[in-house]
Amino acid sequence: MTKRWIVETNVDKTQTYPQLVEASNLIKENEVVAFPTETVYGLGANAKSDEAVEKIFKAKGRPSDNPLIVHISNEEQLDELVEEIPGSAQKLMKAYWPGPLTIIFKNKQGVLSERVTAGLDTVGIRMPDHPIALHLIEESGLPIAAPSANRSGKPSPTTAQHVLEDLEGRISGIVDGGETGVGVESTVVDCTREIPMILRPGGVTKEQLEQIAGQVLVDPSLKEGEGAPKSPGMKYAHYAPNAPLFLVEGDKKAIDELILEKQAEGLKVGVLTTEERKDDYQAECVIACGKREQLETVAHSLYETLRAFNKRDVDIIFSEVFPLEGVGLAIMNRLQKAAGYRYIKR
Ligand code: AMP
Ligand code: MG
Repeated sequence: MTKRWIVETNVDKTQTYPQLVEASNLIKENEVVAFPTETVYGLGANAKSDEAVEKIFKAKGRPSDNPLIVHISNEEQLDELVEEIPGSAQKLMKAYWPGPLTIIFKNKQGVLSERVTAGLDTVGIRMPDHPIALHLIEESGLPIAAPSANRSGKPSPTTAQHVLEDLEGRISGIVDGGETGVGVESTVVDCTREIPMILRPGGVTKEQLEQIAGQVLVDPSLKEGEGAPKSPGMKYAHYAPNAPLFLVEGDKKAIDELILEKQAEGLKVGVLTTEERKDDYQAECVIACGKREQLETVAHSLYETLRAFNKRDVDIIFSEVFPLEGVGLAIMNRLQKAAGYRYIKR
């Protein structure tokens, strides 16, 4: 049985909420509980307990070499968890915590479960910018390990309903705080290096990081989609809808031609586009994913859109591509993974 607590999104820091007390008690008892963050829903457990963390891997079907991000609610918690806080990390924390930024630190041995770090000597930590998440962490008094609350390989959940579709009966509970905001996961930045390096693009953009920390590198393997990524999780197939997805580099005409070709073969075609063009395509299923002019809205709706194709009768999906700037870098990273890096260039 998965318990569902419905809680208003804007919980007040100074109040006690019986639902969150109950949820945090389960975390203290080493059970797993899903909760909203500003990026996507997370699946939380006591990061110090092997037993608790093992339950996350089991519920998700997550490969065991993929480390988990640890969530904290105040900076004092860091001292217990990490060896040192480099200057670059200090500046970035000041600017973007709480927020969609995970920082990789040198891990203090023997505090966190080794299942969290997957045996690495580093650990990814973030402070989520969501009142429910912060309240829950504070109430439990523990660092909470929390990957996205989806079955491994599926698009990350941006509503409680998505979580339940994947994990109902597999987890102890879910705090339902409505839809999440950013829609793509946190940016993972490695601050153990001389020059910080983005291992996973996400909610905080490269441009925003550079404003605060000066030069910031991007893991080169992300650009080509080949070579060994420095973040273990980046090598896995992820986010894929059931029908094969292709990214189309070309104008609207290129997608129109592809639609006609596939329809002539008797296939039902899906198109992932944006509000601006949703009425322009003659395909069986056209879904608008936000507005191209505001890439944040595309990020917000991306996983919901990928999940929506699974509810429709389509044999193949063509997606428009987005510029590799700002949050576009994170959007394209997720779309490339969802498409298995299949591009059509016309
Ligand atoms: P998720 O928890 O599903 O949002 O995924 C977490 C991402 O952060 C994965 O891509 C992990 O591989 C990455 N990650 C977590 N901890 C580390 C670490 N210590 N070093 C590098 N990448 C990490
Ligand atoms: Mg995930």
